[in-house]
Amino acid sequence: MPSSLESVEYLGIIGRSLKHTLSPVMHTAVFRSLGLPYSYGVMEVTAEFLPSLLCSLRTRGFLGANVTIPHKQAIISFLDAIDPDAQAIGAVNTILHKGGVLTGFNTDVVGVRNALRPFATMIRGRSALVIGAGGGTRAVIASCVKDYAMDHITVYNRTPERAVELVASMGQRLPSCRYDTINGLQELPEAVAASSLIVNTTPIGMNSDASPLPRNISFSKNQLVFDVVYSPLQTTLMQQAHADGAQTIGGLEMLLHQGAEAFRIWTGKEFAMDVARTAVIQQLRTLS
Ligand code: NAP
Repeated sequence: MPSSLESVEYLGIIGRSLKHTLSPVMHTAVFRSLGLPYSYGVMEVTAEFLPSLLCSLRTRGFLGANVTIPHKQAIISFLDAIDPDAQAIGAVNTILHKGGVLTGFNTDVVGVRNALRPFATMIRGRSALVIGAGGGTRAVIASCVKDYAMDHITVYNRTPERAVELVASMGQRLPSCRYDTINGLQELPEAVAASSLIVNTTPIGMNSDASPLPRNISFSKNQLVFDVVYSPLQTTLMQQAHADGAQTIGGLEMLLHQGAEAFRIWTGKEFAMDVARTAVIQQLRTLS
């Protein structure tokens, strides 16, 4: 534990509706286990306050932050520098502060890469259906294309214009893949059936039994369903897929791996993965 307030360095998560965020619990557990004098808090702000918040963070003692829903894209214009990987996908989820300079990174891509790695042979070079069109979606698409050479990605989003915008932007940034959008629920069964990987990148199912896909959609055993939602650990979408024999991954793995990469950026040290996993699972049990 820090011996005095002066020796403490501060970090936190910037977003909206952060009541159930697990990042403070995860990082605090790791800081404590490694004896690091860091304190991790919550910075809940609306978009209009982002510029003033970031100004106030350019102070001694502030080490960095995570950025979450809904600021991952909007925050870019208020930072001083952007890591090329974050620039390439147009979303930032991690900020490093050094000498008054705020640099943006995207560690969600590393989180997705590591979460999908055990299933690489199932998905490499194949097609994916991605539900959502936000900051997390960009990280999922970037990893699918760059790490797993996926050949065709279809995006379905509640607001179809955002899906169209997203595929146009990803098509420019990562042109080795073909991109499509679908406009309505009626097109979902065919899109699901044509995909080796189905990913939910919306918050649907977070602390609820809702699913981003209709209950009558069916899956097959050669499909992988990845839900970025981590609370509950087994979402309704995962249960639907599992019942049909498909493989599933929940958001916990992505959460831990994106956290590990952010920790490395802030501290230059190795993350205590087991400590983080235990702390997050314990916290999820108390929430359920
Ligand atoms: P974001 O940039 O705000 O995007 C949210 C997306 O979800 C948008 O496409 C939005 O659709 C859609 N959406 C939101 N509410 C919806 C609803 N009720 N019905 C249908 N669609 C809805 O957010 P984000 O940062 O990508 O985060 C999305 C989710 O991923 C969050 O739950 C977050 O916790 C989770 N996440 C998890 C990890 C992890 O490590 N496991 C990492 C990143 C994100 P519209 O365009 O129509 O608004």
